[in-house]
Amino acid sequence: MSDGPRVALVTGGARGIGWATCEELLADGWHVVVGDIDEAAAQAREEQGHSVDGMGLDVTSEQSVEAVVRSTIDRHGRLDVLVNNAGVTHLAPIESFPHDAWTRVLETDLHGVLRCMQAAGRHMLSVGHGSIVNITSIAAQRGCPGRAAYAASKAAVVSLTQTAAIEWARRGVRVNAVGPGYVETDLVRQLIDDGQVDRDPIVARTPLGRLALPAEIARAVRFLASDAASYITGQVLYVDGGFLADYGVASSVVPDDR
Ligand code: NDP
Repeated sequence: MSDGPRVALVTGGARGIGWATCEELLADGWHVVVGDIDEAAAQAREEQGHSVDGMGLDVTSEQSVEAVVRSTIDRHGRLDVLVNNAGVTHLAPIESFPHDAWTRVLETDLHGVLRCMQAAGRHMLSVGHGSIVNITSIAAQRGCPGRAAYAASKAAVVSLTQTAAIEWARRGVRVNAVGPGYVETDLVRQLIDDGQVDRDPIVARTPLGRLALPAEIARAVRFLASDAASYITGQVLYVDGGFLADYGVASSVVPDDR
């Protein structure tokens, strides 16, 4: 392993939670590889500083995943952290969920995570050191109407995280997950502004009474990725403003004696 700065690969890192994660890791002195299907957007992130590499990455392609992992190790001599953040969704009822959309979501959100874990994991196991953080969702824990493929993928990612954590625990590689609640990324804000997502019921259902900021998810990823979490493996840290702790009516029935 080279003596240079620690290196992290963040999939889907060009925007949203992925880029917020990159910013947190950069602030901690990491070198960050932004891998994104939008190659131009990934490369544009190189303008943020010499500690960023932007690479085209399609997690649905084994060839693409292998190439990015190989190129990272060739350039830097190490790969310490993998953050599996790339994700897509599709909105449709189960009875008519299109098969191609089902396959696309699972190929990205589940098989993409496995592909990246295999490629990065083989290197990490060979040097006996590494940390992987998979991005799941509160959708892994509850029914998620209209998003069956997404929820099924995210639930499977939890299971994959736990199994890999056990298989690799004594070989120096920790595997954890972060499960965000609703996050106010640029995309989500746009959907709210366009009237496609209704903010009010989400806020009412969330005990902390607001959506998360991308940086609030990213800080949890940074913690689990780092040596500060050296005794933590196989865990899912839900960063959801209390959403899962509540059985459904949230703050609307909390007595207010202020
Ligand atoms: P965004 O859509 O803002 O960012 C995801 C990034 O992944 C985009 O840059 C996207 O590129 C890229 N991407 C898509 N497909 C691929 C692929 N095949 N290979 C590589 N990169 C790809 O998403 P968010 O930041 O909102 O979400 C990030 C993660 O967090 C996802 O896994 C999501 O499921 C999860 N999450 C998000 C929540 C939220 O409220 N935002 C809540 C819970 C979980 P492009 O834009 O060009 O398609």
